[in-house]
Amino acid sequence: MNINSDRLWDREQEVGEFGRDERGGISRFAWTQEYREAALALIKWMKEAGLKVRVDTVGNIYGRYEGSEDLPPVLMGSHFDTVPMGGKFDGLAGVMTALEVLVSMREKNIKPKRPIEMIAFINEEASQFLGGHFGSKAICNMLPMNFADISVDRNTGKVLRQAMVEYNMGLDPDNFAGSFIKAEDYFAFIELHIEQGKYLLDADLPIAVIDDIAGIKQFYITFNGESAHAGGMAMKDRHDALAAAAATACEVERLALTSESRTRGTVGYVHVEPGEHNIVANKAIISVDFREARLDIWQRLYDDLIFFVENQCTNRNITYSVSSTINTEPCHCNDQLRKIIAESAEENNIPYMHMVSYPAHDAMQMGRLFPMAMIFLRSSNGGVSHCPNEYTTKEDLAAGADVLYTVIQKICNLDKVN
Ligand SMILES: [Zn+2]
Repeated sequence: MNINSDRLWDREQEVGEFGRDERGGISRFAWTQEYREAALALIKWMKEAGLKVRVDTVGNIYGRYEGSEDLPPVLMGSHFDTVPMGGKFDGLAGVMTALEVLVSMREKNIKPKRPIEMIAFINEEASQFLGGHFGSKAICNMLPMNFADISVDRNTGKVLRQAMVEYNMGLDPDNFAGSFIKAEDYFAFIELHIEQGKYLLDADLPIAVIDDIAGIKQFYITFNGESAHAGGMAMKDRHDALAAAAATACEVERLALTSESRTRGTVGYVHVEPGEHNIVANKAIISVDFREARLDIWQRLYDDLIFFVENQCTNRNITYSVSSTINTEPCHCNDQLRKIIAESAEENNIPYMHMVSYPAHDAMQMGRLFPMAMIFLRSSNGGVSHCPNEYTTKEDLAAGADVLYTVIQKICNLDKVN
């Protein structure tokens, strides 16, 4: 084995405890005291491993292992925050395996050609400050410059600026630009992450090579009808906003099931006004979430749904509006890096499969800048994630780190990635 599986497991458990929630699971949100304690534990281990540590202006943590030549480094890592009442593996597995790879390299006194850096992204889950993938979006210059003033903790109302200052790790809410990285700054990016589903569990395999990350379209549709008496108003004379919304929710499911791909389509939220049992609804809002790896289908899903909504509204003589919250195109993992991951798994005698990631990851943002690939690890416990029962075994975590170790050795000796 390339790495020390006991050390990896113990550290995953130790740092994973920060943010223990008395309601169950782990709630380790970005820029909180719990997050700070976890970050300090991580930084201590990084320094012990001889890494050059820096925290950027928004709170992403980097650690650098020097190479023999002054070339753009290989970057690896994942996010360090959790959802409310989450587990110890989502995100953290990618950070701790990255650390373990570098600690093991140092123990073996390996001097790679290229430098290698690890990263712990901040606020990927957006548990308090909404948006999602904050850390990776910040460094890719995808956030408005005044984000620290317009982003507010949805539970407490605290402005992000204040949270960043109180975090007391030298962050600078006025200097998001200080966190930017450019395409030429790094050579490639690898993210290891747990699967958060059960394809690997069902296939009885520990790891997967990710081929594509599905694109996401997330939006709200508001239907505006007219309130009326549930008894008095004849069916033919109604302008029922909820009936239109309900039909649309079923259409989302139908479109996903008939897309000729493994599309996911979800309506997980509904708001109805006035929300009375004896009043026809004058307003209904639903959320729609489509995930699809093929670009043409990804676009068509939205167009087909809006066509359906327009028909609903015409037939019922009501109006609608759409507000988009996420519109991220599908992302293809680099072919050469995917091959390297597959070869590395074979060399370590770890069986694998290929897979599409339907959850989005920080890797999507990194993939806009430089070649990117992902490794998935099996989720045990029925594949559940984003909950206290989220679990990946010690053996699978070690298998992932073992493959990552080989992958990184191979990449840092390449001259270029095609
Ligand atoms: Zn995650």
